[in-house]
Amino acid sequence: MIYDFGVVGAGIVGLATAAEILRARPGASIIIFEKEDGIARHQTGHNSGVVHSGVYYTPGSLKARLCREGAEATKAFCAEHGVAIETCGKYLVATNAMEIARMDALHERAKQNGVEAERIDGAELARREPYVAGLAALFLPSTAIVDYPGICAALARMIAAAGGELRLGAEIAAITEEAETVAVSSAAETLRVKSLVVCAGLQSDRLARLAGVAINHQIVPFRGEFYALPSARTALVSRLIYPIPDPTLPFVGVHLTRTIGGGVIVGPNAMLGFAREGYEKFSFNLRDVAAYAAFPGFWRAIVAHLGAGASELRSALSKSYYLAQCRKYYPSLTLEDLAEPFAGIRAQAVLRDGTLAHDFLFAETPRMLHVCNAPSPAATSAIPIARMIAEKALARFAAA
Ligand SMILES: Cc1cc2nc3c(=O)[nH]c(=O)nc-3n(C[C@H](O)[C@H](O)[C@H](O)COP(=O)(O)OP(=O)(O)OC[C@H]3O[C@@H](n4cnc5c(N)ncnc54)[C@H](O)[C@@H]3O)c2cc1C
Repeated sequence: MIYDFGVVGAGIVGLATAAEILRARPGASIIIFEKEDGIARHQTGHNSGVVHSGVYYTPGSLKARLCREGAEATKAFCAEHGVAIETCGKYLVATNAMEIARMDALHERAKQNGVEAERIDGAELARREPYVAGLAALFLPSTAIVDYPGICAALARMIAAAGGELRLGAEIAAITEEAETVAVSSAAETLRVKSLVVCAGLQSDRLARLAGVAINHQIVPFRGEFYALPSARTALVSRLIYPIPDPTLPFVGVHLTRTIGGGVIVGPNAMLGFAREGYEKFSFNLRDVAAYAAFPGFWRAIVAHLGAGASELRSALSKSYYLAQCRKYYPSLTLEDLAEPFAGIRAQAVLRDGTLAHDFLFAETPRMLHVCNAPSPAATSAIPIARMIAEKALARFAAA
């Protein structure tokens, strides 16, 4: 049998894409290949669980538009499919003069991006969040927390109900584009599809290369460490508490996040990872490290972000330094509160000139579309991203 469509990767982007293709073309045959024995096992299942409102991104950019549309679409999807979500809002807290200037710039950006935002002073912040300290804050009421693996489970049910197939434990090791089909091989079998979409997150550059697609970037893993705060702490913040981010970096800074399960987590930092999928503290994978060490853009990025990198390294190696970052805006936090660590790993595309790609990157051939960079907030934006990818895949399919 030749399938109409194939998707590699059952994270939120791959699953939303498959669901969107089936919505646009009911009756199409589609198969999803996932190397793990469950869905959402990597970035999608190890993130902060936040539905971002879209304040950070350059006005008019694809990222800003997709985030705003994605937040609305995610809320509607959760309401329709009974997935847990809570629109609790978040504070971006400024703790010094430089951060106030950056916060005011973000306030302007919020207006340009059509995101509701309220600027409050330190006294009002103290009244609303007595355990949080800051000189001023920006309140974003539309930010939400959600169960992303729950969204993926709902998508998988929709796909199955529409006749789609999900192959778990199917690690794709070869992809060959042929005249009329693409041959996709795991250790167990080779199947053919007419159009292939690859949403492989941390492995996306490897899959592009093994499919013979010319790319100009390298995935570098950035490890983000979180701590689950003890239950005595969970009542002490009612919203999400974020620092003011450094505008030169693609990460939003260590934050306090309420989780859909009723807990509070703090994190993630963002330090260079030594394994793409190694979640334990000192995970090291020689193949992963050798791959980025051999890429010239990696060293250019290291030089460009030396200061931030050193600070993140300190926060990874020293709990006291990590604590100091959080105590800037949450002074009562103690070392004992940082007891239960866990990690997520971001797939960060680094370009040959050393730029950390902030936006989505795609690579296309006549029968394939590879999602090469789907950085945060790609979980928030997954539904409109999937629509965009599905449109491209369907257009390619119609032309074939
Ligand atoms: C620490 C952290 C915090 C974040 N916080 C947020 C947040 O709060 N809000 C937000 O919107 N975004 C957040 N993000 C970003 C968001 O999680 C990701 O952008 C999003 O999950 C990317 O989804 P994906 O489907 O592209 O990748 P993934 O979820 O990584 O899925 C890729 C899938 O491809 C599979 N795969 C790889 N290689 C193969 C192969 N050879 N064969 C078969 N299958 C393969 C993998 O097993 C995996 O299941 C965060 C990310 C991290 C890491």
